[in-house]
Amino acid sequence: MNKPITIAIDGYSSCGKSTLAKALANRLNFAFVDTGAMYRAVCLYFLRSKLDWKKLSTSEIEAVLDKIAITFEYNSLKNSSDTFLNGENVEEEIRGKEVSQAVSELSQLKAIRSRMVGLQQKVENRSGLIMDGRDIGTKVFPNAELKLFMTADPAIRVQGRFNELKRSGKQVSLEEVAENLKSRDYNDTHREENPLRKAADAIEIDNSYLNQEEQLQLVLRILTEKGLI
Ligand code: C5P
Repeated sequence: MNKPITIAIDGYSSCGKSTLAKALANRLNFAFVDTGAMYRAVCLYFLRSKLDWKKLSTSEIEAVLDKIAITFEYNSLKNSSDTFLNGENVEEEIRGKEVSQAVSELSQLKAIRSRMVGLQQKVENRSGLIMDGRDIGTKVFPNAELKLFMTADPAIRVQGRFNELKRSGKQVSLEEVAENLKSRDYNDTHREENPLRKAADAIEIDNSYLNQEEQLQLVLRILTEKGLI
């Protein structure tokens, strides 16, 4: 049997990375890890503990990280996984405004990135693995068999994220969403440690005008052409 492959999906916030990753994982029966959810869960822990990460030393941050366990559990109602922080389902809370506003600042810290990257590299790949984030193709799995870099028109990203938040009952304005995406893009591309970059060998997908089925078919075609499936 062939060695299970890894697919790395990177890109800006709200370009549809996770939606595509989930659809691919379902179709191919691969495991899927949403690394953004990991950074969000860590951020939630810091916020709840009222810890100001800007005032903590590297060893203090590492000691906090030692108290955090992040796990994922399949939710059959949604046909996707929920994120658990120390055994508590925090899937809803990590998508809220507080975490969204703080997460990209916290994610700049080297101690946090090293820990998350280490955990991500240890994920078992039994029958294929899809991971989405910002540094998967460049740092976590530089040898991934397929690397995708997703982009989309900023106005379309803002509207998509706004619709998604509204659907889940969150009170937020279009302007707030636009501001949040802008500042996260800035932080994610300008940090020193593993900034968001398109890997040299990544295939760029502009997701502005593709529906979910079209994205899925496009990537399945790429995988078939490369002889990966
Ligand atoms: O993917 P999502 O938008 O949920 O990620 C939330 C934040 O987590 C990003 O804006 C980024 O700051 C951080 N992140 C990261 N590296 C990853 C995944 C997410 O820095 N691999």
